[in-house]
Amino acid sequence: MQDSLNAEYPKIMRTTQKKSRNSFSKKSKGAPQRSRKKGPAKSNININRLEQKAVPVQETTFEPQGPFSQWNLEPALQKTLAQKGFTHPTEVQEKTINPLLEGHNLVGIARTGTGKTGAFLIPIINRLLQQQKNFNTLILAPTRELAVQIEQEFKSLTKGMGLYSACFIGGTNLNTDLKVLSKRKHLVVGTPGRLLDLANRKALYFKDFEVLVLDEFDRMLDMGFAADVDRIAGAMRQRQNTYLFSATLNKSQQGHIEQLVGPKAVEIKVSNGEVTAEHIDQEVIKLKEGQDKFGVLLGMLEQNEFSKVLVFAETKRWVSRVSKKLHKSGVSCDEIHGNKSQNYRQKALKKFKDGKIKVLVATDVAARGIDVSDISHVINYQLPATMDSYIHRIGRTGRAGKAGKAYTFVN
Ligand code: ADP
Ligand code: MG
Repeated sequence: MQDSLNAEYPKIMRTTQKKSRNSFSKKSKGAPQRSRKKGPAKSNININRLEQKAVPVQETTFEPQGPFSQWNLEPALQKTLAQKGFTHPTEVQEKTINPLLEGHNLVGIARTGTGKTGAFLIPIINRLLQQQKNFNTLILAPTRELAVQIEQEFKSLTKGMGLYSACFIGGTNLNTDLKVLSKRKHLVVGTPGRLLDLANRKALYFKDFEVLVLDEFDRMLDMGFAADVDRIAGAMRQRQNTYLFSATLNKSQQGHIEQLVGPKAVEIKVSNGEVTAEHIDQEVIKLKEGQDKFGVLLGMLEQNEFSKVLVFAETKRWVSRVSKKLHKSGVSCDEIHGNKSQNYRQKALKKFKDGKIKVLVATDVAARGIDVSDISHVINYQLPATMDSYIHRIGRTGRAGKAGKAYTFVN
């Protein structure tokens, strides 16, 4: 159906149905291991790679072809875009919105902070406004925080339109979710676990949704959601469109991605799909034998330029420990990790966003998809286990073309 339209866009996959040489698609079906060791995992990072000067951000050179006001979007949507101060599209938005309006499936590769949420929400909202609200969208996000953020963005972009959304995430009251589900929703966003839970209780039917959005797909795989995603996608028997967004594009995921979006999906690349942190100043802090690591951290935090600092530690216990010690030392801070309730995590994140606390100490839960602008520094109190995790952590600073700084403690 989309053949002719498709010609002007690069295709994600060759349309020939050649069997891939090492059929990753089969392998990727099993859930990756979710097990986590108790203590900090041994890191496989080469620390020489953690020391580099920032090079200017590529995205800053992007010149949009025109403001949103010149786009063929519904007036009501034009209005909310303007209210949000979205005058011009970001690069990923400029490249994505038209193919989605035309009904294509899509794979979008772009770094965090480039406006991917708007890239899929704007066309979805436009379609809802045009098609008399007769289709439903399901959005899967890897983390609770990210799911909440997506729904917030939807709400602010649909103010006064009579469009309804809901967000279903773990760690919240299931009965509340069940009540919410009794009313019609145009858009449902959630984490895979809770959505499956609701489906198992026959409160949510995946077949009711026409559009599937997979946000931060790479992160979803990292977190062991591959099988859950497949189950949900497989149950969406009325699915017309699938949009998959990722910061990275790993060859080994190609087969799995094609299964989900089909062979004719348009591919949009704003970055090359390789994770980089070139736009972030990165430094290693080598501790001498017997040097007090916490003391060094405190010394850094006393400097004025450390205005909004995200500190990562490897385990929940370490996060709590560092946070408590900072608190005792008079540094305004809070902590987020898996042992904190969703409510607590939201509140801590909001305080951090609003500048009410200077430091947020976190596990990797916070490493992706959280859009807190103006994080001045990311500090790795412990070396993360993998380079991937390192890149995503430090990517919390230097968002939206801003300069960022990252420090990593090494014993
Ligand atoms: P990503 O999903 O790629 O990490 P987000 O969708 O979270 O990025 O967007 C990053 C930030 O940029 C958010 O604060 C968002 O409100 C803002 N933003 C998105 N699109 C625009 C736009 N067209 N103009 C101005 N700001 C935008
Ligand atoms: Mg995003």
